[in-house]
Amino acid sequence: PFNTNRGQHILKNPGIVHAIIEKSALKETDIVMEVGPGTGNLSAKILEHAKKLIAFEIDSRMIAELKKRFIGTPAQGKLQVRAGDVMKDEDWPIFDVCVSNLPYQISSPFVFRLLLHRPLPRYAVLMFQQEFADRLVAKPGSKLYCRLSVNVQLLAKVEHLMRVKRTEFRPPPKVDSTVVRIEPKNPPPPINYQEWDGILRVVFLRKNKTLSAIFKQSTILEMLEKNYKIFCSIKNKPLDPSFDIKNLVDQVLEQNDFGNKRARTMEIPDFLSLLLAFNKADIHFC
Ligand code: SAM
Repeated sequence: PFNTNRGQHILKNPGIVHAIIEKSALKETDIVMEVGPGTGNLSAKILEHAKKLIAFEIDSRMIAELKKRFIGTPAQGKLQVRAGDVMKDEDWPIFDVCVSNLPYQISSPFVFRLLLHRPLPRYAVLMFQQEFADRLVAKPGSKLYCRLSVNVQLLAKVEHLMRVKRTEFRPPPKVDSTVVRIEPKNPPPPINYQEWDGILRVVFLRKNKTLSAIFKQSTILEMLEKNYKIFCSIKNKPLDPSFDIKNLVDQVLEQNDFGNKRARTMEIPDFLSLLLAFNKADIHFC
C-alpha cells in the first residue's frame, strides 16, 4: 500500500513521535507546517500542542486517510490539508515552526526553500536520511564537510537531535534517519547569495586541494575573466591592456594568505573574507 518512490515510510514507534514532539517545544499559539503527514501519526501529536497545523501531502489516498482520522475530533478544526507537491506550491503560508518526517527526495531543495521563506519561521525540526543530516551539521575538518554544510550553516544554526533506526519505519527505508533542528539566523547575513554559492562551488570542487591549485584551473580562470569583463563594462571601467586574470587572482590569494588554505578546513568567516577580498579586486562569482 505504501509508495516508497514518494518516500512513504511511516513512523511506527509512538515513543519516537513523542520525542520529536518534545524536542519541537511547540507553543499553544504556534502555526505549524508539516510536509508529508502520511497517515497522521506525527500530525495527531502536533495538533495536540499547536493552534493550527498546515499539512502538505502529495498522495490523495493519504489525504483521505488523514481526514478520516480526525473527522469529528477537536483536532479537525485545527487541521488544514494542502494537496499537492510542496515544492511546486508557489504560495507557502506563514508559519512559526516546521515539523516533518520529510520525504527524503526533497531534502536539499526543501531546506533552502525553508531558509529563503519570509517571514522566517522560528525553527524547523526535520527528519532526514542519516548521511544528509550528517552533512548538514558537519564541521570544518570533518570528512563530510561540504558545500551543503557551509551554505546551511551560513543561514542557520543546525543541531543534531537524535538518530532513528530504519526498523522504526514501515516499510523500513534502506538507511537510518536523523532528526535535526534548524534555526534560521534572523536577520539573515547580508550577502549576495548567488555570489556566495558561486565561490563555494569553485572551492569545493576539490575540497582537499589548496586554493592556489584550484584557482590555477583554466575553466575557473576563464569564468572569472568573463565575469570581470562584464563587471568592467557595466561599471564603465577601462580594461588595462596588460590585464591578466591569473595574476590578479594570485595577487588576491597571496595578499590575503589564502593560497595554502583548503576548503575542507575553512570556517564560514574564512569563506566570507575570501569572497570579500575577490570582490574588492572586482572579481565576481556570478
Ligand atoms: N509523517 C508520516 C510519518 O512520519 O509516519 C509519513 C512520512 S513519509 C516519510 C513522507 C510523506 O510525504 C508521504 O506521506 C508522502 O506521500 C509525502 N510526500 C512525498 N513527496 C511529497 C511532496 N513533494 N510534497 C508533499 N508530500 C510529499
